[in-house]
Amino acid sequence: MAVLEILEFPDPRLRTRAHPVTSVDDDLRKLVDDMFETMYDAPGIGLAATQVNVHKRIIVVDVSENRDEPHAFINPELSLSGEIVETEEGCLSVPGFYEPVTRYEKALVRALNPQGEAIELALEGMLAICVQHECDHLEGKLFVDYLSNLKRTRIRRKLEKAHRVRA
Ligand code: ZN
Repeated sequence: MAVLEILEFPDPRLRTRAHPVTSVDDDLRKLVDDMFETMYDAPGIGLAATQVNVHKRIIVVDVSENRDEPHAFINPELSLSGEIVETEEGCLSVPGFYEPVTRYEKALVRALNPQGEAIELALEGMLAICVQHECDHLEGKLFVDYLSNLKRTRIRRKLEKAHRVRA
């Protein structure tokens, strides 16, 4: 397994729309393992393949306290329901920033698992919110897109400055 490099906002590659996975094979399972290792190492509660510059429809999440409830969803499709709830969100691609974002409280996800089997899972709470956030990445969308232009520009400037310092 390997820890992969995570792209950071405003990297234009984060705006790529991911392609559907056409075959679930050993290479894909290795990528899923690497994504889990990258997410746990960061540490974060979710990661989309887009964030490690692989433009395939794959997300991994684990919102559990003990970091022992991993979920990997391949070609996820969401049906959203329930109330609209506001949560402070962060993102491994927007390090250090947390802002309130509104999402649906429930999601039904249909996807393939890493064995290539079709699965359907009813999600709620943090897990439902996290999966909506990760599915946005597959569309090239970031949580900062839900914020005001002013806030997003401020975050972009701070991160660009941080990138220059690191370079
Ligand atoms: Zn994110």
